[in-house]
Amino acid sequence: ALIIDDSCINCDMCEPECPNQAITMGEEIYEIDPELCTECVGHYEKPTCISVCPIDCIDPDPAHQESEDELLVKYHLITGKP
Ligand code: SF4
Ligand code: SF4
Repeated sequence: ALIIDDSCINCDMCEPECPNQAITMGEEIYEIDPELCTECVGHYEKPTCISVCPIDCIDPDPAHQESEDELLVKYHLITGKP
């Protein structure tokens, strides 16, 4: 999963772009639910939130490191797609 760091300016760009609805407004800044973030595996070539973020404040979450295969399993579980 990815994580948003505290330099987030709450610009609202990433939230509507997430294909897994993993991004929501937290207490102070936007947050990514690690249970729902597949790093866009299954949907896109690259994480789309990183592509749209104007200040580059989204990074790999060191507490939730997953392989491509694990992310793909998560994608199938979330979407129900084969
Ligand atoms: Fe959503 Fe993809 Fe960003 Fe994860 S990497 S939060 S799935 S847009
Ligand atoms: Fe924060 Fe970046 Fe998302 Fe904007 S696009 S809300 S700065 S994480």
